[in-house]
This record gives sequence, structure tokens and C-alpha cells, in this order.
Amino acid sequence: MIPLNDTSRISNLILSKSNDDIQNVIKSGRWLLGEYTEKFSSEFAKYVGTQFCLPVANGTDALEIALRVVCNGSNGEVITVANAGGYTSTASKLVGLKPVYIDIDKESLLMDISSLEKVVSPKTEAVVVTHLYGRAVDVSKVRIELDRLGYGKVKIVEDCAQAHGAKINGKRVGSLGDIATFSFYPTKNLGAVGDAGAILTSDENLYRSAFQLSQYGWIGKYNIEVEFARNSRMDEIQAAIILNLLPYLDRWNCRRRDIYKEYIKAICSDSIGSYNCLDESNVVHLAIIKVNDRENFMQHMKDSGVSVDVHYPILDTNQKAWCPIQNQVLINSESELEKIVTLPCFPTMTDSEVELVCNALRSWNNA
Ligand SMILES: *Cc1c(COP(=O)(O)O)cnc(C)c1O
Repeated sequence: MIPLNDTSRISNLILSKSNDDIQNVIKSGRWLLGEYTEKFSSEFAKYVGTQFCLPVANGTDALEIALRVVCNGSNGEVITVANAGGYTSTASKLVGLKPVYIDIDKESLLMDISSLEKVVSPKTEAVVVTHLYGRAVDVSKVRIELDRLGYGKVKIVEDCAQAHGAKINGKRVGSLGDIATFSFYPTKNLGAVGDAGAILTSDENLYRSAFQLSQYGWIGKYNIEVEFARNSRMDEIQAAIILNLLPYLDRWNCRRRDIYKEYIKAICSDSIGSYNCLDESNVVHLAIIKVNDRENFMQHMKDSGVSVDVHYPILDTNQKAWCPIQNQVLINSESELEKIVTLPCFPTMTDSEVELVCNALRSWNNA
């Protein structure tokens, strides 16, 4: 079976690039908050184009801390989409904020910016923009729309966990809103060998608050100044590893795009839809296609030796833990959920594996 992803294929690269650094970390005895974490944060901030980068333990912590920083306590609302895996809702609940969902654009599967108007209110504290599946949302349009509606003060949080390196109008995601969050979970476009995440911003006050919240709320050692802080850190070994993988990110993103382009070429049936946007604004974290007869299609792919999955099968508005949710109907979110299928796509896929997926796609078209 061709897997959806196979992280073991970069294990030799990781070992050859990071073996010495891992040895250095362990021998130094400085396993947290050391030079690799510092080096990674400055390199990653430079790469993304922000002033500051705060390494944290994972992407969900990053979202929770970022939301706590930009929102004035609980009781407020966070506007987001319901089709992005639930991470923003989880983080909002932890902070005590109420997620309010808007529909997605049918073609891009990203936030429908024109729907902001329906839900934005004086209770709105933040909009979380998820660059889902690797595709960048044009955050400047979100800002313009909020300004137009008289909500220029509402903060924009970018969730970049699926879009490391994606660019829109020449700027990378993570530098477009007020604050941004990343995950370096192993299968992300830039992944660690365990958990890791980061918060990026160019606003010094937001950075300082986020840092404090990630360090027990300390103003100085053992001197706690803010309530509801916690501990969230990236460790030195993860920092060293992703620092050494960062130079590969752009190359890997190109490879992901090329793989997806091959799939599109192989599709000639009207019953399969694909993304039409494949420039630098899309780093194809997941190769999503839309199929009318999904159940049979997925069986056909599996029978052809190709792993497939659905990201994500349940909207946040239908998650058991969070029901019932009073909201307007999310027409596109509901309808597209029934069609989406994820195909294998990762930079170390071989050409023959890509060809095998293409053949499986072609034979479905001809069926
Ligand atoms: C993976 C992911 C997260 C969460 O990251 P973790 O490091 O697993 O906590 C958040 N948002 C999105 C869109 C993700 O894909």
C-alpha cells in the first residue's frame, strides 16, 4: 500500500544532519531553553518574515496562548470555520471563548470572507484564519472586510499548522495577521520527531505576553504576574532537528505541488474535482480532491494499493463534545464534507508511487 505519509523516509536525513547536534545537546546538559531553541526561533522568524518567534510545545498550545493574548479574557467570541479539524475550537474552549462558525468558500474550502458580516459583533475578540490543506487565505482581505464593517480592532490569528512556507502577494503566511501559530507535528510540511509548535508576531507586546503565558506567568523568577499561565516549551533536540530541516522546506513544498499537479493531469472525469490554485500560495499539505461517489472511489483506490482518508470527517458544529451548537446552517461546509478525499502526498514519494496513484485515478475515470 502507498501510505498517506511516511515520516521514516527522512530518518536518515535527520540523523545525518542532526546527529552531532543531538549529541551536543545531550552532553551540554542544557536540554531546554538553550542555544538551538534560540537559533531556531531567530531563523524561523526570519524565514516567515516576523520580528518574533516563540517556540512552544505544540500547535494547540500555540493557538491557546495566542488566543489568550489577543482576547480580553473569556466571554468573548472567536470567529472561525468548522471544517478545519477542531483545533481552534479546542483552544477557544480552553480559554473560555465561544467559537462562532462561518461557512467556507466552495472552491477553496477556506473561510468565506464575505460571511464575516453575518456573525461579527461587539462580542467578537478575534478571527482565526486557518490556511487549510496548505492553501493560504488572503488575510489582507479579512482585514479590509473587518475594517469595512467597523471592527478594525478585532485581532486576526493565523493558524499556519498546515501551510509552512506558503506565500501570498510575496509574503509568507504567519506574517499576515496580528499573531500566528505553527505546529511541527511530524507529518506537517516542517515536522519534528515529536511535538513542537511556535507563535510568531511582529508586535512586541503580544510576544511578551505570549512568552509570559508560556512560562508560568512569571515576571521574574518564581514571581507570578498573570493568571491562567502555564508551561509550554519546545525542547532543544526538536529545535535542533527542525532548524536543520528548515533549508529543505521550500524544495519539499515544490515537490508536494508537483505531485498534486500530476494527480490533476491524471483526472479526466467530471466526477472528480480538484484545486485549481497551484502557485506559491498553496504548499499542498494534504492532496485533497472532491468526489461525488466517495465511498466507491475510496474502495477503488484501496483496491489499487493507494491509501486514502478524509480530512476531516466531522465538522466542529457536529462534534459530540460541543453539541448542540446554535448557528446558522453552514451550507458549503456540509456539502463539501461529503466529497473530500485525501490522496498520498509527501515529498519523499517516489515517481513510481506517484504514477501508481495516477493510474488508479485514471482507471476510476474510465470505469
Ligand atoms: C496539526 C494542527 C494543529 C495542532 O497542532 P498540534 O501540534 O498537533 O497540537 C492545529 N491546527 C491545524 C490546522 C493543524 O493541522
